Amino acid sequence: MNRVILIKYGELTTKKGNRNFFVNTLYQNIKNKLKNYDVEISKDISRMYIRFQDKDLEKIKHVIDCIFGIHMYHIAHIVDTNTDKIKTILLKILREEKFNTFKIETKRSDKTFEIPSQEMNPLLGAHILKNIDGIQVDVHHPDVLVKVEIRPYHTYIYTNGYKGCGGYPVGTQARGMLMLSGGIDSPVAGYLAMKRGIKLDAVYFEAIPHTSLDARNKVIDLTKKLVKYTDKINLHIVNFTKIQETIYKNGNPTYCITIMRRMMYRIMEKLAKIQKGLVIINGESIGQVASQTLTSMSVINQVTNMPVIRPVACLDKLEIIEIARKIGTYDISILPYEDCCTVFVPKHPVINPNLEECLKMEENVSYEKLIDEAIQEINTITIEDNDLEFENLL
Ligand code: ATP
Ligand code: MG
Repeated sequence: MNRVILIKYGELTTKKGNRNFFVNTLYQNIKNKLKNYDVEISKDISRMYIRFQDKDLEKIKHVIDCIFGIHMYHIAHIVDTNTDKIKTILLKILREEKFNTFKIETKRSDKTFEIPSQEMNPLLGAHILKNIDGIQVDVHHPDVLVKVEIRPYHTYIYTNGYKGCGGYPVGTQARGMLMLSGGIDSPVAGYLAMKRGIKLDAVYFEAIPHTSLDARNKVIDLTKKLVKYTDKINLHIVNFTKIQETIYKNGNPTYCITIMRRMMYRIMEKLAKIQKGLVIINGESIGQVASQTLTSMSVINQVTNMPVIRPVACLDKLEIIEIARKIGTYDISILPYEDCCTVFVPKHPVINPNLEECLKMEENVSYEKLIDEAIQEINTITIEDNDLEFENLL
């Protein structure tokens, strides 16, 4: 029997004016993700269809489960739009299922097809009842719900449904610059940003020799998890050692984290301009640590006019952890390597920093030069998606 993966867009359907752009981006993303498979992809205004080789189905499902913009998908049998052919295939499908009760739901999108949906349901149901013994129709709680979608030329029949990961296709928004530390929160923030269609660059601040290469590798591994949801991510590694040491030599220790984060934001803004990123994205969560009180966030934020998106700002840690587990970053994030923030953290960081005090401290540091140097020395690694992991998994 002939099968296709039938994809439903969901949220995209609310984007009237932009609909073609959204659908075309999703189409390109799916095509790109499945480039190593023998597939044929086609689309119409509300659906996409992937013809596949049976041996690849499980692997393809794993790939599709990470493509934003897919609301729901079905593995559907495809048949010519012809009543006799529909009856034959429908019977074949149901002969392979174990059930006592069933219901048929027909949707006739092809209005030139002569039989209306309401007549098609009993017609097909009677055919099944006549040919399979010991079964009944149950319109309220059927064991098997069979959907029959009658479209021009082809009819799609399916008894299953898989939830896609929702959101908008990556690339339907501009680029965002993700501050990616080795912690739990920032990879989740990156995932949620991509879910809104944002294309990511990631930026990691390291302070070798105070932080280790293991810490860097951890961030690379996290990026590899995130890249499953997009095509590639440029990971920019910033050498932050000089800036951090200078801050700690020159000021009030309780303010060091605040100043350090202001420096990070300054670098993020400059780098964003170079990489054509429009927003900064990070894993700040309100109240989680001293630098994430609203006062701290406001004082830190003053160094940039660029929008800062904080996807996990209002989530509880447990809610963040739940997402981290789902996307496979949690086990990497909890590995115990030092981050540049934790190495330099003072005993009592200021909870309600004062802007004047920050500006006074920053006068002692010729930070513009240090920032430019750090940007010039950035080491960028491009991490691309490949489905080797799935190969190992299956
Ligand atoms: P996470 O679990 O994401 O590391 P956190 O709870 O450790 O977050 P902080 O260390 O205060 O919180 O950092 C807040 C956010 O700032 C992080 O989520 C991340 O987006 C960014 N950040 C912190 N340290 C770094 C770093 N070394 N490189 C890049 N971004 C960083
Ligand atoms: Mg952290």
